[in-house]
Amino acid sequence: MEQLNKKLLKNIKILYVEDEKNISEQVKYFFDRYVKEFHIANNGEEGLELFDKVNPDVVITDIQMPKMNGLDMIKQLRRKDLPVIITTAYSDAEYFLKAIELKVDKFVIKPINLIELVNDVQSVVLENHLKNEIFEKDTLLEIVDKNVLISITDTNGVILDVSEAFCNLTGYSKSELIGKTHNILRHDTTGDELYQELWNEITLGKSFNGEVKNKNKNGDTYWTKLTITPVKIEGKIQKYIAIRHDITNKKILETLAIKDDLTKIYNRRYFNKIINKEIRRVKREDNTLSLLCIDIDHFKKYNDTFGHQQGDEILISIANSLKSSLLRRSTDYLFRIGGEEFSMIFSGLSIEESLDFANNIVKNIESLELKHKDNSNVTISAGLVVQSSQYLEDERILYKYADDALYEAKEKGRNQVILSEHSK
Ligand code: GH3
Ligand code: MG
Ligand code: MG
Repeated sequence: MEQLNKKLLKNIKILYVEDEKNISEQVKYFFDRYVKEFHIANNGEEGLELFDKVNPDVVITDIQMPKMNGLDMIKQLRRKDLPVIITTAYSDAEYFLKAIELKVDKFVIKPINLIELVNDVQSVVLENHLKNEIFEKDTLLEIVDKNVLISITDTNGVILDVSEAFCNLTGYSKSELIGKTHNILRHDTTGDELYQELWNEITLGKSFNGEVKNKNKNGDTYWTKLTITPVKIEGKIQKYIAIRHDITNKKILETLAIKDDLTKIYNRRYFNKIINKEIRRVKREDNTLSLLCIDIDHFKKYNDTFGHQQGDEILISIANSLKSSLLRRSTDYLFRIGGEEFSMIFSGLSIEESLDFANNIVKNIESLELKHKDNSNVTISAGLVVQSSQYLEDERILYKYADDALYEAKEKGRNQVILSEHSK
């Protein structure tokens, strides 16, 4: 979507909710030339009022505003099907996860790049209004080609046709894509499971929806939300039509919001989310959940002796070692909970297996031979709780059991794991 689509823009009404006047004026100045109507509201309350008056085709909103913030406003919008674009600063991480829960997936990162914003407006409006025929038929095809990410494949996944917008996104020309499979866009880190699931669904004649990580011709990563629909004639699948939209910004922000800056492992915010998700999953699957709380021994002394910066290096080394100890299953997680405290969640191991696993982790850290004061090695202590589904308690109680066990490990001389007596 490299270009301004004047035909498309002149049909639409935009409501822009932003409390900073200098920003909203600048955006209005740009859009006024192209769109049918552009309205500004200064906060969520005004946004709601104006919404009912002007009945816009798309809402663009800031998050943090006086009176009513952007997310509370979105929740109260009278029409739920309306496309919404959120403008956000990196520092809005907390709000950002809430926005995802509201199913918003278009994010423009501040400071606003007007071209990016106009492209996003074009694509969300198109996706939403394609069915409503707000455009004349002959201009529709042209608009779709330029603005919607479409690829059409045969039943073997060989590409038959792609839109111009898809070429722009991927960096490949039409002729480079036609005759190939989507494999050339596959990202090295995307596992087979996703593609298996996808093919399972679509070969049954069902449509598939998912978020997919890809790489473009330059090798850069992009993310799309993908919908594949089988096209049938007399009940037989003839081809597949894939429509996507670009959610790269959403993914960048999502990653920032759930990762720790220093160690690049998951942060506490994500822990809170995952622990609940895992408790629910383990109960559903009648499995066993293990929670391990880890704390570096005498770390204050380390900092006092070698300095904070070298302390940070230790945190990174320990995070890396813990990460490589994970069992590499998609349901094993490592978090930095805060300061020099980490935690792990894993499932499907008995009490004995979990304890063996935790003991190994503690040994691994000592054998890294990271030198502490007096040439001793840096060590960690850990508290472990393991509960099978019929006994599984809520996340706060589980965390307390593991933390109490960690405290006991410290009391008993550190560099060891203590199993909580509440493991069962
Ligand atoms: P214990 O064996 O009982 O755990 O002793 P401790 O000194 O490790 O525990 P305490 O909780 O008293 O001190 C934790 C120290 O961790 C305090 C602080 O200097 C250090 N720390 C916390 N966060 C960071 C960080 O991000 N970087 C560095 N370098 N140090 C940190
Ligand atoms: Mg400590
Ligand atoms: Mg501590």
